[in-house]
Amino acid sequence: MKARVFSGIQPTGSPHIGNYLGALKNWVKIQYDYESIFGIVDLHAITIYQDPKELRAKSLELAGMLLAIGIDPKQTAIVVQSSVHGHAELAWMLTCVTPIGWLERMTQYKAKAAAQETISDGLLQYPVLMAADILIYQAAIVPVGDDQSQHLELTRDIAQRFNSLYGETFVMPATKLPTVGARVMGLDDPEKKMSKSATGANHAINLLDDPKDIRKKIMRATTDSNPAVDIETMGPGVANLIAIYQAFTEMPDHAAKAHFAGMRYGDLKKTVAEAVIGALEPIQQRYREIIAEPGHVEGVLKASAERVSVIANDTVVKVKRAMGLYTPD
Ligand code: ATP
Ligand code: MG
Repeated sequence: MKARVFSGIQPTGSPHIGNYLGALKNWVKIQYDYESIFGIVDLHAITIYQDPKELRAKSLELAGMLLAIGIDPKQTAIVVQSSVHGHAELAWMLTCVTPIGWLERMTQYKAKAAAQETISDGLLQYPVLMAADILIYQAAIVPVGDDQSQHLELTRDIAQRFNSLYGETFVMPATKLPTVGARVMGLDDPEKKMSKSATGANHAINLLDDPKDIRKKIMRATTDSNPAVDIETMGPGVANLIAIYQAFTEMPDHAAKAHFAGMRYGDLKKTVAEAVIGALEPIQQRYREIIAEPGHVEGVLKASAERVSVIANDTVVKVKRAMGLYTPD
């Protein structure tokens, strides 16, 4: 039997090359080696206010994008989180075994809370919902970017606590990732990771950006005061551009060093922009074809939800029995 994998992406903002290089590209690669379930985690998105119409549209668009990059729906489930009821139900049960102190320590919570005027309880509980997403499928492997590794560690703590209170119920998910993706930094501020929720016109390259925008954003990317690439002393902006190039072209470090050493920043940026445009073009083409087909994306989501609901319901019943909650028959 293949090991089961779960990972998710929020339907907020527009998916960018950080999401692609750090997560999505790897999902496509591993889907035949594992039993994979990929979630469009809309219940996570609402921890911060989302326009209802837009949220629904974004969930469908993101599903279309997952198909466009090469997720094979015959092999792999693509599910919208809220359409499988067990996620929210299990999250409640796990909330009751999670000490508040564990949640208040989460760095993402602290960062996101600092940026909000009113902090919803959901923002604090978010990692418990994430634990439920993983544990409900008894996933053994959870490939996420390193921004999520603290939440994954928490998931293990919650599973362990539940298992010790109520008996062996959950598979312990691995924190070691099979392949490590790139961590892409913001083009306007290479000290911060590229994020869907960040503002700033030149912050991110979205997967659906047209060539003109991609060129413009990369040409405006923050570098440093040197005129050309010096591998030894380059700042984070230059390193980020080279890393993006390498991730798209799968060029190894030694080759990239030889290729870019001494290159003037203007030429570096042009080279990176053309590589990004070339890599995204076929994805964008497939995306347009997929969303032009009425009902296609919805059909995939429905079939996937039906398939994985069987696993999710099994876990919920098991958890309810372990906790002494009433389960008919
Ligand atoms: P948000 O700002 O709404 O949190 P996000 O860009 O962080 O958006 P998520 O939906 O939270 O995106 O994450 C989806 C996946 O992309 C996760 O596996 C996450 O680790 C990965 N990821 C997010 N940003 C980056 C990045 N800059 N580089 C590499 N991987 C990333
Ligand atoms: Mg995020």
